[in-house]
Amino acid sequence: MKGGGRREKRQLGLRAQITAGFCLFALLSLVLLWVLQTVLLTPFYRAIKTGETRRIADSIAKDIDSPNLDSLAYDTCLRTGVNIFVTDPIGRSLVAYRQSFKESLIADLGRMGRIAIFDKVNLLGGSYTETFTSRAGGAQLILLGKVAHTAGGEHWLVLVESEITPVDATVDTLRVQLLCVTLVMLLLGAGLAAFLSRRMAGPLTAMSQSAKRLGEGDYTIRFAPQGAREVSELAHTLNYAAAELSKADQTRRELLANVSHDLRTPLTMIKGYAEVMRDLPGENTPENVQVIIDEAGRLTDLVNDLLDLSRLEAGADRLTLSRFDLTACIGAILTRYDKLADYAFPFHYDGPVLVEADELKISQVVYNLVNNAIHYAGADKTITLRETVEEGRVRVSVTDTGEGIPADKLRDIWDRYYKVDKEHRRAQVGTGLGLSIVKNILELHGGLYGVESTLGEGSTFWFELPVVPERET
Ligand code: ADP
Repeated sequence: MKGGGRREKRQLGLRAQITAGFCLFALLSLVLLWVLQTVLLTPFYRAIKTGETRRIADSIAKDIDSPNLDSLAYDTCLRTGVNIFVTDPIGRSLVAYRQSFKESLIADLGRMGRIAIFDKVNLLGGSYTETFTSRAGGAQLILLGKVAHTAGGEHWLVLVESEITPVDATVDTLRVQLLCVTLVMLLLGAGLAAFLSRRMAGPLTAMSQSAKRLGEGDYTIRFAPQGAREVSELAHTLNYAAAELSKADQTRRELLANVSHDLRTPLTMIKGYAEVMRDLPGENTPENVQVIIDEAGRLTDLVNDLLDLSRLEAGADRLTLSRFDLTACIGAILTRYDKLADYAFPFHYDGPVLVEADELKISQVVYNLVNNAIHYAGADKTITLRETVEEGRVRVSVTDTGEGIPADKLRDIWDRYYKVDKEHRRAQVGTGLGLSIVKNILELHGGLYGVESTLGEGSTFWFELPVVPERET
């Protein structure tokens, strides 16, 4: 317990985890936004602008021989706001379009300057890019030079100048906006986290408190199915567990009451009779000794049943398999009931049936079923046994014409210590363990079993085992 407590302390609660998760997510998204919008905006913009300028220079160079080169340059200049120049190798300007209100380095350069650029472009393999700040206004310009090859074999220089609009103002605006967004997101995130964690953790906390009470033995506790689907499923499962625990507890109480009652009654009788025989002359009769022997027998049965069942349930009991004739085995059991002269035990079978099973345990199954049938037999005191073989399986059924079992109890009778009639008369009913032993033995064998019963008409208990195939016999 102590260790568990210590571990609990180190673990974060659901609320804290959800809130922390939300805050972390909001923070990461915001940091990403900040980095993208402020730090990386300028390099992004510059890269896009450079790409655009290069595309313009490429298209002019491609159409260098076009008779419409002039109008093409003019249109592009108007549309995109760049300055376009085309010069020949000796610096003469062939085409020149510039935005009148924008600065231009090229326009200011003389022929010598243009020749110098041509040389530079040639030196760099026919294309070069440079960014520079204009002398007057401090605006940033991109200059892109590209050599164009005319059909006549001449090399002309295409120069495109593009201004990079300062994005500082935009960045500042974005920063203010981002600050607002950050604050709103943090507030929203915290609110949402608080709301969600209350919705999720609330039912779980309530459930944990109920579970504690269940652990303390309050089996009446019920878990309210609320909140998320998984949580409400958990509540249903816990309710089922509580009902099962309550059933087990009830059974335990009944067992204790039954076993102590069933132990005490024969003991009282034995002690009483023994004392009478000791103290009263003439009471030492064979009848009285028989009572003591019968009661001791009853005690032995009870203790044996209890031992058998606990061994079977603990899985400690292994089957000792052997091949034997089930018909003969049942026949032998029935001869033991011969002394019950009032009862009739008709046994219908077709012939010997070889099975591979634990003979002793299967005999115990038959005994228990026949004993029950005797206990609950009808007025005709007839217990009919049938043995039929079908599709490689043998089915044995034990039928009585007694009071029958209510349909809603048919499943429960296989449970330990279960008795349909709790206020039973001692002479009539056993320990409530018989059918549980039957069930355990048949399940160990992998056999099928069941019961059909009609109230007032009687019951038929049956079980099935595989028959050893003839070719193996
Ligand atoms: P018990 O020792 O009480 O007979 P069992 O486990 O053998 O215990 O049977 C459980 C309960 O099933 C019995 O208490 C009885 O209510 C019911 N039962 C079993 N066999 C029969 C039967 N042949 N006819 C009617 N009720 C039966």
